Amino acid sequence: MVYQGLIEKYKDFLPVNNRTPIISLYEGNTPLIPANNLLKKLRFDGKIYFKFEGMNPTGSFKDRGMTIAVSKAVENGSKAVICASTGNTAASAAAYAAKAGIQCVVLIPEGKIAMGKLSQAVIHGAEVLSVDGNFDETLNLVRELSGQYPVTLVNSINPFRIDGQKTAAYEICESLGQSPDYQFMPVGNAGNITAYWKGYKEYAEAEPKKYSLPKMMGFQASGSAPLVEGYPILNPETIATAIRIGNPVSWKYAEEARDESGGIIDKVTDDEILNAYTLIAETEGIFCEPASAASIAGLIKCIRHEYFDKLNPVKIVCILTGHGLKDPDTVLANAVKLKKIKSVKADIKDIISAVEL
Ligand SMILES: *Cc1c(COP(=O)(O)O)cnc(C)c1O
Repeated sequence: MVYQGLIEKYKDFLPVNNRTPIISLYEGNTPLIPANNLLKKLRFDGKIYFKFEGMNPTGSFKDRGMTIAVSKAVENGSKAVICASTGNTAASAAAYAAKAGIQCVVLIPEGKIAMGKLSQAVIHGAEVLSVDGNFDETLNLVRELSGQYPVTLVNSINPFRIDGQKTAAYEICESLGQSPDYQFMPVGNAGNITAYWKGYKEYAEAEPKKYSLPKMMGFQASGSAPLVEGYPILNPETIATAIRIGNPVSWKYAEEARDESGGIIDKVTDDEILNAYTLIAETEGIFCEPASAASIAGLIKCIRHEYFDKLNPVKIVCILTGHGLKDPDTVLANAVKLKKIKSVKADIKDIISAVEL
C-alpha cells in the first residue's frame, strides 16, 4: 500500500477513531542509515545506524507528534493551536495548522532560534511572537494562556504528541527486524525520550519473542543539562538551540526511561557537539542540526570511555532529530573562522593553486 503518513499506518496503536480528521503531510517512514564510515573512523566493533528524522516534511521529528496533536485539535473543534518553541515545534505546528486551515500562534525566545525554523513559521502563516525570555519562561506563558482561552496547546505536554513520536521506535524495530541494543539521542524538554521508551515497550509487549528493550542513552548540552546536574538550570546556554532547555517538562519520564532501561543521561560540551556534527557530515554525507549531533557526541564519548563490552558487538541507533539546513548559520560562522571558504579570482590558475588538484 502507498504510504500515507503515520496515523494511517499505525492507527491501531494510536488514539484515533474513524471520526478523527487526519491532518497529515506524510510524515514518518524516515530512513535508518548504516553508518559504516563512522564505524571505521571510530574503530568500533559493532553496528551503528542513524535514524534520520531530518527527512520529515518540516525537517524534524516534531512532525510525528504534530500530525496527531493537530488532528485531535480539529476533531475536538479547536480553531487555533499555540506553542512555545525553540524553533522546530513552531515550524511543525505552523505547517500542520496551515494544512488544517486553523490559526497557529507561536512564542519563541528572542534571538535564540535558528533562521531556517523561524522562516518556516513565517511562511506557513503562523502568528509569531518573539518573547524577551528563555524557552522555559515562554512555555509557562503558553500553558497559562491555553488554560484560559479556547486554544489547544501543542507542546509535548500534549499527550498526543508523545503518541505520535513513539512511532519512530516502531519503525526502527521493523527496519532492523529486532530492537537495537542501545539508542542514543539528544534530550531537551525530554518528550522524545519519553516517546521512544513508550514505543519500544509497546512493541516488546506486543511481540516479546521478537522485540526486546534497548538501553536509552540521552545526552544534554553541558551548558543546559538539568537532568545530569539534578536541578533546573536558570539560564541554559548551548549552541544547540533545540535543546537549550533548563527545566524539562518530561523530567520524571526521562528518568524513568533511563532507569527502567538501564541507560544513562549524560552531557556533552558544545565543542564535542560541533566536532560530531562536522564528523558525520564529512564522513557519512549527512547534515543534521547541532542538537542532533549530541547523540553522536554522546556515542563517541561512550566509546572513548570504553563503555561497551568489547566481546559483545552491539547494535546502536543514533537519532538525528533534525535537518542541518535548519541552521546554516552555525556552519558558516565556523567556516569563516576556520577559513574553509577561500576567495579566488575568476582565473583558472588562481583556482588550481587554491585547491591543489
Ligand atoms: C525538539 C528537539 C530536540 C529535543 O527533543 P525533546 O523532546 O525536547 O527532548 C532535539 N533535537 C531537535 C532537532 C529538536 O527539534
